[in-house]
Amino acid sequence: MTDARSDHVVFIVGGAVAGSEAAFQLASRGVTCAVMEQHDRPYGKIEDGLPRWHVDLRLQEEKRIDEKLTHPRVHFIPRTRLGSDLTLDEIRSWNPSAIILANGAWRDRTFPLAGIDQYLGKGFVYQNSFVYWFNHYLESGYNGPRYVPEDEAIVVGGGLASLDVVKILMLETVCRALEKRGERVSLLDLERNGCRKVLTGMNLTLEDLGLKGCTLYYRRRVEDMPLAEMPDNASPEKEAQAQATRRKLLNNFADKYLFKFESLRAPVGFMAEKGHLTGLKMAHTRIENGRAVVSESTADAVPAQMVISSIGSIPEPIPGVAMSGERYVVKDERTGELEGSDRVFVIGNAVTGKGNILVSRRHGRTVSQYMIEQYLAGAASGYEEVFAGAADETRRKMAAVVGRLSLQPPPSRQRVSELLSKIEYLQRRAGYGGDYRGWIDASRSNTI
Ligand SMILES: Cc1cc2nc3c(=O)[nH]c(=O)nc-3n(C[C@H](O)[C@H](O)[C@H](O)COP(=O)(O)OP(=O)(O)OC[C@H]3O[C@@H](n4cnc5c(N)ncnc54)[C@H](O)[C@@H]3O)c2cc1C
Repeated sequence: MTDARSDHVVFIVGGAVAGSEAAFQLASRGVTCAVMEQHDRPYGKIEDGLPRWHVDLRLQEEKRIDEKLTHPRVHFIPRTRLGSDLTLDEIRSWNPSAIILANGAWRDRTFPLAGIDQYLGKGFVYQNSFVYWFNHYLESGYNGPRYVPEDEAIVVGGGLASLDVVKILMLETVCRALEKRGERVSLLDLERNGCRKVLTGMNLTLEDLGLKGCTLYYRRRVEDMPLAEMPDNASPEKEAQAQATRRKLLNNFADKYLFKFESLRAPVGFMAEKGHLTGLKMAHTRIENGRAVVSESTADAVPAQMVISSIGSIPEPIPGVAMSGERYVVKDERTGELEGSDRVFVIGNAVTGKGNILVSRRHGRTVSQYMIEQYLAGAASGYEEVFAGAADETRRKMAAVVGRLSLQPPPSRQRVSELLSKIEYLQRRAGYGGDYRGWIDASRSNTI
């Protein structure tokens, strides 16, 4: 691994959809990329977020990531976490050509009830660790958090991920209840066909299994759920059409998986007993100027042995990276250029805020291909094509950024070989010998 022909060396944090895409785009143009990944495998939300019933999608996306990370100019560095194993300032001090943060959005948004976090793992659960558990708990050697899905659980959310959470709860509780009766049903079949159909086929109901089902609480109306695209500046007819589609989709979904849905409700308090959360106090809300406002009426106490918060994921704070509220401060989302940090870029979920594979990949490609690449190639052309159609102001800003970046000289040969030595050192420290495919295979069979 001592290929120092490339002039430029870029460090990328996170090797999943966005990170691998950026690495591949850059490597294909002769740039050496070091991809630092905190885990053994680089698949991010594809492996740990997307629920495991997405078998084909997961295989397809993992294969794509593997292909990109096996490019000869991409150097994978597993088991290396920015923030604890290495700081941004350390990487900066090595003076690479650029740093790309492709670290996704892994922190659950804080649940808006002070004091409830003391019940974490004792009745209170955040979505990210719950889905992680669901995806991995059957693996031998699993040593992450352990949960027992409870009937009549409360899920607070309303986005697409919260629907996956209610689905996990229903599939798990129904499968376990059937198993207790000596009936074996595969969870993947139950997911494909739905709980109602499978139970009806067995001449059973939820009640026969002694279950009531979980409830999803949403602070807005069902018509506000992002289940069907609402076009910008939609006409009243188009708006009504999208709202009707949303209602229909949610009703079909709730009917298929047998969960309950409560709209216009928000948590305002919680109940606990003997160190365990025992439920939430749910108030009614109304929509005022597009915002959900809690009504003054008394809140209902809703008992539950399990409460799952699914109100969104945000990027984790990184020392040295400016945040405004929940987001990294970028000069412009389309360039990904981090405010106050020269040559540091953010791509994918970490900046788009969209939980979507395609959006992450496209963002990784746009930023790497048309910004960093132009700068690394030393030519400030090509951006016109990408930003054609953008407002004049945006185009002017882009031109200024590209112009400024294109002035950056590539590192010297000596600097390049020093950077390659750093990469080798980090790989050795992680116990990684440079054989990506061998490493992935071994990690899957837990033999590293
Ligand atoms: C429940 C759920 C369901 C979903 N369903 C769909 C769906 O049906 N369709 C769809 O298109 N999308 C879906 N998504 C969203 C989609 O999976 C993500 O938007 C996309 O995979 C994000 O890719 P990314 O590369 O931007 O980020 P991530 O996949 O989050 O990748 C970030 C990478 O950075 C690594 N990392 C993080 N911090 C550090 C650090 N400090 N140091 C080193 N490495 C670090 C992580 O380990 C990870 O590998 C779903 C998400 C969830 C949670």
